Amino acid sequence: MSLQNPVFIPGPTNMPDSLRKACDMPTLDHRSPEFARILRPALAGVKRVLKMQAGEVAILPSTGTGGWEAAVTNTLSPGDRVLAARFGMFSARWIDLCRRHGLEVEVIETAWGEGAPLAAIEAALRADTGGRIKAVLATHNETATGVRSDIGGIRRAMEAAGHGAMLFVDGVSSIASMQFDFAGWGVDIAVAGSQKGFMLPAGLAILGLSPKAIAAMETAQLPRAFFDLRDMLGACARGGYPYTPPVGLIAGLAASVAMLEAEGLEAVYARHARLAEGVRRAVFAWGLTPFAARADLYSDTVTAVRVPEGADGTALVALAAEKYGMAFGTGLGEVQGRVFRIGHLGMLTEALVLSGLAVAEMCMADLGWGVRLGSGVAAAQEFYRGAGALARAA
Ligand SMILES: *Cc1c(COP(=O)(O)O)cnc(C)c1O
Repeated sequence: MSLQNPVFIPGPTNMPDSLRKACDMPTLDHRSPEFARILRPALAGVKRVLKMQAGEVAILPSTGTGGWEAAVTNTLSPGDRVLAARFGMFSARWIDLCRRHGLEVEVIETAWGEGAPLAAIEAALRADTGGRIKAVLATHNETATGVRSDIGGIRRAMEAAGHGAMLFVDGVSSIASMQFDFAGWGVDIAVAGSQKGFMLPAGLAILGLSPKAIAAMETAQLPRAFFDLRDMLGACARGGYPYTPPVGLIAGLAASVAMLEAEGLEAVYARHARLAEGVRRAVFAWGLTPFAARADLYSDTVTAVRVPEGADGTALVALAAEKYGMAFGTGLGEVQGRVFRIGHLGMLTEALVLSGLAVAEMCMADLGWGVRLGSGVAAAQEFYRGAGALARAA
């Protein structure tokens, strides 16, 4: 018998059986027209999920990190300057990747727990009178701290500064779970991965590319070969692929979009907001707080829970895995030990989330954190009872 609990890490996420099956395909000649019939709905589906009006989607055999690399190397040249705020592990790693590629990164140091600092971004762009900054990098949902940034606000700050840089957005832990408006926010490149909101195995980097980003590929000088998006876009336009495609994952991606659209994208986002609010009610009932600095920053896909003074978040994660067979996220980088993370994205329901909260409570009681069993679960239950009734009445 397989005793498998849902995972509560912020990716990879739980996989619906139907999507696992959609990935399970016999060998297929990817040079046959059959492949185009699998590829085209996946590309078109991602465009709808991202809310793109123009531009193209590229699907690479990689992960989110490879998507960053493709975004940067296809549009920029050695010595180009990019602007980025650092406020968590993922925004920090993107900056590091740019530096390794010989880019100059103007970093706006921002406290962990905060989001992208709009005024500082606008000021940095205004100060760049020579137009040296070619791109602004933004992490939509900082998975390390559970913080959502205001991407539309970044675009407005860029407009207020009258600056022509491109806007690149890491949406790995937000896309397909939280509102994302590629066209409305003026995004030039959006990066996602298959293993988070799309509920698939890891293995795909998914990019949305604006016409401006596509035009930048013609003059960009950074070296790229496997990730050369000109080859990818050219091949995909003909219904092909520049090398052997991961056909099963691409079929899974089309099935994932169909599943999200069957629920309704707005309903998917509302479900994530509801699940997240229940988790936060539980956190407050435990006498703890989310690590995110303010309510408007709270992520709907992951909550980093600040642990009591003297307690160790990593110990909770280890105990949950060993004793109860349940996975939570540890604190990363600067907040290691100071938080544990509850991922609440993808294939989750109120009932599943309650099971995660119940196990977290048992661990906290085992570790002597002074949390009363049932307190957080009850707070979430009260919220879900009311919110669930509203959702069904609507
Ligand atoms: C998971 C994640 C990544 C890294 O993606 P990989 O698929 O592991 O390469 C990047 N950014 C954010 C915000 C993430 O949550």
